[in-house]
Amino acid sequence: MSAEPKRLHVVFFPLMAAGHMIPIIDIAKLFASHHVKTTIVTTPLNAPTLTKALNTTTTTTTTTTINVEVIPFPHSNEADGIPQGIENFHKFNSNAMAFNFLKATTLLQQSLEQILEKHKPDCLVADVLLTFATDVAAKFNIPRLVFLPANCFSQCVTHSLIKYQPFKTVSSDNEEFLIPHLPHEVKLMKSQLPKMMRGDLDMDIVNTKWMEIFVQAMETESKSYGVIFNSFYELEPQYADYYRNVIGRKAWSIGPVSLCNRENEAKFQRGEDSCIDEHECLNWLNSKNPNSVVYICFGSLAQVSNSQLEEIAMGLEASEQDFIWVLSSSEKDDKIEEFEKRVQGKGLIIRGWAPQVLILDHQAIGAFVTHCGWNSTLEGLSCGVPMVTWPVFAEHFYIEKLVTQVLETGVGVGAKEWNRMVEGIKWEHIRDAIRKVMVGEEALELRSKAKKMKDLARKAVEVGGSSYCDLSSLIQELSSYNNATTYVRD
Ligand code: UDP
Repeated sequence: MSAEPKRLHVVFFPLMAAGHMIPIIDIAKLFASHHVKTTIVTTPLNAPTLTKALNTTTTTTTTTTINVEVIPFPHSNEADGIPQGIENFHKFNSNAMAFNFLKATTLLQQSLEQILEKHKPDCLVADVLLTFATDVAAKFNIPRLVFLPANCFSQCVTHSLIKYQPFKTVSSDNEEFLIPHLPHEVKLMKSQLPKMMRGDLDMDIVNTKWMEIFVQAMETESKSYGVIFNSFYELEPQYADYYRNVIGRKAWSIGPVSLCNRENEAKFQRGEDSCIDEHECLNWLNSKNPNSVVYICFGSLAQVSNSQLEEIAMGLEASEQDFIWVLSSSEKDDKIEEFEKRVQGKGLIIRGWAPQVLILDHQAIGAFVTHCGWNSTLEGLSCGVPMVTWPVFAEHFYIEKLVTQVLETGVGVGAKEWNRMVEGIKWEHIRDAIRKVMVGEEALELRSKAKKMKDLARKAVEVGGSSYCDLSSLIQELSSYNNATTYVRD
């Protein structure tokens, strides 16, 4: 009698931060839709985000159960004062606390080992910032895949910047330099680089600590079995090839992963609890003409200064477009409340979490003013929405170049300074950038290119598409690793 083939089992361990957890949940759903046994590990306060997202029917045909394992978050002296009740990176608005939070995650190693001991999985997919996961996987003799909430383009830019240090050739922060040996001519300014990358000798203690984390993450990326990207080949073919062939790493582009959420309910349930009712949001959008609404959101981490809030309000009003504007719950300004009353009907302000993919996927949305976080950018591209790019920090400035210069589906608002805070852009520039993507010849061209990107994105995730095939081949490779398991197909 032949033995029942064992199903491939993959454990996912996302960093507890919206921009990291949300795509990993979608990736776990995709693996599950390929009949892979799937377990996601998280901490108690993050578990509801997982369970509500998993309780919706999302992927193609399968509703395979995904197991959730909850491990305690280490609120101890060792965890450098991370207060009780906070277990998520995006709840911190100081760089120093965010750093302490990352440090505290290293205390999760033992609990993760217990989960692996219990399940004996075939592979561990962990966030690039959870650097200890490589040692954990090695202990259990299973491959460790890295999840990077980035794309091949930004990794190639980072690689070139580190290898050739072209920013050392410029005499001022505002002088442009070419990023060497990339398939396109991409230029940046030193002021747009992460502070820790600029090689300045007077780096403060927090940036020095971040530099250490950055170096560890780079090592993790290079030492792991391979990298999973939430991207698709047709979006960045030359960079996907460059990453694999020139940088020489194994990588699988299996996105856009947000597209596994087909039904409105699944789109609505992504991430935190939404601060607007699903039907209220849809009714508002349904009352608008196609391509007539500007959606503006700076993701889960960036903070907008009060003076910038006022400039945004003036820019939106002067653009004469309808809009949805997402403010974080901590962003409060009396003038914005007056503004809100004045623009009632024309503008909708959401305070707190917005159901972003539900909104972007609505035909009324005509443009996305984005901070260029990779998830948001890819969600915008997958919905065929032209963008006003407003990079803030992380690798946002690289992604801006991808959108405005390589894909040509957006225009920049003129941000020049890498900074955790959104500030310094005058209302006239906001108005002009919005009008460029919403009105006139250039807007039509941007929209047509964005629409092509949407079609390519959707094809990539269909059966036989590039992302579908990349995921299938990854699953097959994992199945044959150590001859441990057999991949069970439909
Ligand atoms: N997001 C959302 N509603 C919000 C803010 C953010 O759904 O009000 C989601 C967004 O769709 C994306 C993620 O949170 O999936 C943010 O990730 P991104 O990489 O764009 O930016 P980050 O928050 O990491 O800066």
